[in-house]
Amino acid sequence: MARVSDTYGSMVFNEHTMQERLPSATYKSLLKTMKQGEPLEIEVANVVAHAMKEWAIEKGATHFTHWFQPLSGITSEKHDSFIDPGPDGRAIMSFSGKELIQGEPDASSFPSGGLRATFEARGYTAWDPTSYAFIKDEVLCIPTAFCSYTGEALDKKTPLLRSMSAIDEQAKRVLELFGEAPARVTTTVGSEQEYFLISEKDYAKRQDLIMCGRTLFGYPPCKGQELEEHYFGAIRPSVNEFMKELDDELWKIGVSAKTKHNEVAPAQHELAPIFTNSNRAIDENLLTMEKMRLLASHYGLVCLQHEKPFEGINGSGKHNNWSISAGKTNLLDPGETPMDNLRFLVFLTGVIQAVDDYQELLRMSVASAGNDHRLGANEAPPAIISVFLGDELGAIVDALIDDHVYTSADKVAMDLGVAVLPNFLKDNTDRNRTSPFAFTGNKFEFRMPGSAVNLSDCNMILNTAMAKSLKSFADAMEGKSGEEFEAAALAYLKDVLVAHRRIIFNGNGYADEWPAEAERRGLANHRTTADALPCFVAPASIALFEEFGVLTEAEVHSRYEVKLEKYNKLINIEARTMKRMVRRAYLPAINGYAAEVAGHICAVRAVNADAEVGQQEKLLEKLLAGVREIDAQLQALDAAHHANVEIADQQERASDNAHRVLPIMEKLRAAVDAIEVVVDRDHWPVPTYNDLLFYM
Ligand code: ADP
Ligand code: MG
Repeated sequence: MARVSDTYGSMVFNEHTMQERLPSATYKSLLKTMKQGEPLEIEVANVVAHAMKEWAIEKGATHFTHWFQPLSGITSEKHDSFIDPGPDGRAIMSFSGKELIQGEPDASSFPSGGLRATFEARGYTAWDPTSYAFIKDEVLCIPTAFCSYTGEALDKKTPLLRSMSAIDEQAKRVLELFGEAPARVTTTVGSEQEYFLISEKDYAKRQDLIMCGRTLFGYPPCKGQELEEHYFGAIRPSVNEFMKELDDELWKIGVSAKTKHNEVAPAQHELAPIFTNSNRAIDENLLTMEKMRLLASHYGLVCLQHEKPFEGINGSGKHNNWSISAGKTNLLDPGETPMDNLRFLVFLTGVIQAVDDYQELLRMSVASAGNDHRLGANEAPPAIISVFLGDELGAIVDALIDDHVYTSADKVAMDLGVAVLPNFLKDNTDRNRTSPFAFTGNKFEFRMPGSAVNLSDCNMILNTAMAKSLKSFADAMEGKSGEEFEAAALAYLKDVLVAHRRIIFNGNGYADEWPAEAERRGLANHRTTADALPCFVAPASIALFEEFGVLTEAEVHSRYEVKLEKYNKLINIEARTMKRMVRRAYLPAINGYAAEVAGHICAVRAVNADAEVGQQEKLLEKLLAGVREIDAQLQALDAAHHANVEIADQQERASDNAHRVLPIMEKLRAAVDAIEVVVDRDHWPVPTYNDLLFYM
């Protein structure tokens, strides 16, 4: 067997391979492009393309593709072979610098939110040299950005890259005040991916899972997750085999899958990678999700990545661990010296300010039809954004605000005038699983993203909002140095913390009192996607994105439109699937069983007219009453659904979906679920929650 250290990254055109395969001058200029964002000359691209092709062909590749992330959030690829037929009937394999740098896919069927008319269907893909090319299934995949003929970003990656440049620029201004001049400041992300594995056979029998990725019906199983036996439990063999192949495949393409374990819910699991820069981390996460879906079939399994596949059972999230680093220095790490600590406080305060000012945008960035079932369901943070600092750091912030001497848990008094922080902070951050945005020692963990989301949006917002905080600080400190700078910085931090204290919440985010308290503090609470989306196009949001060149007003509007449309389309599919399952599977099954029960009653009565059939008659009545209730809700849904489809305005339609259609869908579900538990198992037309979660 090959050693992991030999196969790791073997399918990636990484720095090691570049150095091995490129002339040193080419390698150096490519590195400059990768690390410092300098433009790439076509001559360099030609040399790189040739080396990349030779390398890929040796590894068995026959095709290449520009791999990109359209606004749907998933990845797209179109494969072109390297072959170039010659006049003598033979072919050579070719790949030019131009083909590496730019592609021109027919983009007419990707969502553009009105940015691109169909007659201008051309879109361009442009190589993103900051994320490595890799080989997947004999195809050389080149990570690319995707934009329209007129240059607007049509993808998730471009704005993310722009936001990383914005934070780079502003963070460097701040670091200069501390006498530091790093080559590049970059944000880092480590995303923990949760998912479910269920049997392919059961999956194939459930239209709701096939069409919607979640169960639209299903009575709770006899046991749920209350025994807490699944969390970190021994991994069953088929799942273990799946995880092993997944690791092997991910390692080959350079995805640093690190941790795997069973999650809280039955049939639920998690994979966490080692963090890297945000751009590459998101590419890696998308590859991880794809590999999970594809490899599951090798084991007779299906990987569900929906945020809430099963009602009453924990849904799946994707924690976005986020930090900012300058080379090897983590800027959210408290540090050892007073100056390090002051720098840490500047960045920490910047995060608090950013999250408070743009809380609605952050909430918006994780809004989706699926995640609406998760946020606020006592398993994931509520739809309210707040920041958790923990007792120790919370006390330090309080001391800064109130100008008093900070006394640590160990009773060591500290004079914050020179910003001395205890260096045991790192190991001392308590765990709060109920906070949407928690400081965890040297990074923040944003816990609201759902398992299915593309993390580009929330990171783009986080980075841009943080760039804004850093810019304000740098502007305010311009020209200051030495003690004057230190004093001014502390005063500045104090003012900002006072103004944004409301966003800090160290209590239990699942508690019933919290929403009321949050409302008193003036924090936003958008419970549904329909309510969360409009803030995207609010003037303050557009101003933020335009100030940092991350999105133009037109680009913001297009993204808002795409999100609205996606939400409405998903609810439309769910409503349709529900109606079809009720009409064609559930009602026939319940009626069939009712007829059988009626037949029994008649049969018994035929033998003995006085026989006691009270139980059977009650059951029959229950079934018939159930059918009446199901039918009533079905009619109601049908009417609401038809009326909804007629609404032309997408925002109005989304609100109608959230507040009128979905509540009826819930009632219809409840009506079916109530009858599921009284119908004979053999008559029930689909696998039950017991089957799906425990018998795989
Ligand atoms: P936890 O116990 O909070 O889950 P872990 O150490 O397991 O913490 O890390 C969880 C995730 O956070 C991992 O994917 C890890 O790589 C990532 N992570 C750690 N440090 C950073 C950082 N500085 N920036 C971004 N992500 C990070
Ligand atoms: Mg974690």
